[in-house]
Amino acid sequence: MRGKYIILFGLVALMLVSMLACQPSTGTSNSGKKSIVVTYSILGSLVKDLVGDKATVTISIPNGLDPHEWEPSAKDIETINKADLVIENGLGLEGGMEKTLATAKSNGVKFFTASDYITVRHVGTGEGIPSSDPDQAVGAADPHIWMDPVTMKSVVSALAPVLMQDLGLDVTVQAQSLENQLDSLNTEVANIVSQLPQADRKLVTGHESMGYFAQRYGFKLVGVIVPSLSSQAEVSAADLAALKKAIQDNGVKAIFTELGTSPVVAKAIGDETGVKVVELTTHALLNDGSYFTFMRNLANVITNALK
Ligand SMILES: [Zn+2]
Repeated sequence: MRGKYIILFGLVALMLVSMLACQPSTGTSNSGKKSIVVTYSILGSLVKDLVGDKATVTISIPNGLDPHEWEPSAKDIETINKADLVIENGLGLEGGMEKTLATAKSNGVKFFTASDYITVRHVGTGEGIPSSDPDQAVGAADPHIWMDPVTMKSVVSALAPVLMQDLGLDVTVQAQSLENQLDSLNTEVANIVSQLPQADRKLVTGHESMGYFAQRYGFKLVGVIVPSLSSQAEVSAADLAALKKAIQDNGVKAIFTELGTSPVVAKAIGDETGVKVVELTTHALLNDGSYFTFMRNLANVITNALK
């Protein structure tokens, strides 16, 4: 019996080796489908909705890890360089991937940069908190484009013709349907937040991630725990004192922590200001992997915390 198993395992191993050897050197998989790599999961969810089973969609940054900081492995870099199309956010979101993405571009890999097709939001006067961090300076470009369904609709509209032109994929029907769904989602989110009086629409978050949401749905950005557009910056005592004052002056009802926010710092601010600390999922999909669920959850958590 044992000998039979060994032969069986040997055969399976041989099959695996020969399957691997048959992998073509381009991104196109064995199924003949084109290979699309999307840098992060939230954008990736919409790309999957758009292309369905017409192409293979691979996400580089695992859902739940910080897109600002994640660095690709040698295998991830290989996948990117073999892709028929790489879809990135841009505006410096993929901080740890910058070199890899630049190299792939210079190697001739085709790219679609989502933020090239939207109205880019810049940090406005009076936003955030006083800080010496240049990323927080008025005028800095905000990479958190997925916080607004209407902005993501622009991305979908722009991507559909690129999929046709670069990969020969016709997603005209899917694009129309997805654009309609994003319009409905915008209406739905607006309805959820309409439960909040204008005076309560004030956000304090882990980092400056809610700008597009605030702009679309009429929220004021009172301050951030980490005074930077990315979650990589250190927090200073002066910034913290300014944030506490802003929370009290504005009568902010909740502090939202995110991926990368220091729980110790958030709790200290909450304790000292008497404001509750609420966890908010801003950089990861929930269990069902849907952008629509992600946005509904975001709107509901914010609304319930500020009511
Ligand atoms: Zn962020």
